[in-house]
Amino acid sequence: MKSATATALIARRRRFKRRLLGWFRQHGRDLPWRRTRDPYQILVSEVMLQQTQVARVEGYWHRFLARFPTLDTLAAAPPRRVRESWAGLGYYRRAANLHRLAREVVTNHAGQLPRTAAALRALPGVGPYTAGAVASFAYELPEPAVDTNVSRVLRRVFHPRLRTGAAAERTLAATAKALVPRRGNDAWITNQALMELGALICTARVMHCDRCPVRPACATGAPVQARASAASRPTTRSRSRGKT
Ligand code: SF4
Repeated sequence: MKSATATALIARRRRFKRRLLGWFRQHGRDLPWRRTRDPYQILVSEVMLQQTQVARVEGYWHRFLARFPTLDTLAAAPPRRVRESWAGLGYYRRAANLHRLAREVVTNHAGQLPRTAAALRALPGVGPYTAGAVASFAYELPEPAVDTNVSRVLRRVFHPRLRTGAAAERTLAATAKALVPRRGNDAWITNQALMELGALICTARVMHCDRCPVRPACATGAPVQARASAASRPTTRSRSRGKT
């Protein structure tokens, strides 16, 4: 039998997700890589989005895919051409890793990106986040995808007192996993919505708690709201004064 604490946590996760998904369906951005389930196109977007803003990536993503429309074309390209296509985007190591990955997939996987997060992680330059993102966004597998945005949101919503370090990372990963449903498209939308909340509302610089859809379920935002409401409530004395 579940303890009262575990039951309360499950209820809070449900409340959080209901609000998060409702908000994302209405306010999530229509980004080009959200319109595709092509694993290669999604992989390119995820690599480009590492440490780079969405607005900057969009143009590069379209041009890169126009020049290298498949993993095969990327694998066959000389390194100089790949680097040229990345010029201006920065962090060129990402391009070199992507190129190495393409060559390995063509050589060892018949040109098809692996279909599990574990197999994706074995590829050059693919860490836990990118593996989870491709597995979830392309193959709609129930895998968490915890980048810095998601990590920050989960920390603020569920673990505001969590310290840093490996144990903390494991706690956040477990929370992310618990939030991802077992069914395909629901995993896609859950991960996208978490990222979107971290990008637009619960940002690294500002917590927009006043317009945050998950605030009632948030361990950081809800207590602030409760304190603000209590402070703005008129006291008994001031109420009686007002009546006279
Ligand atoms: S209520 Fe505030 S702290 Fe909580 S998720 Fe929203 S913006 Fe972040």
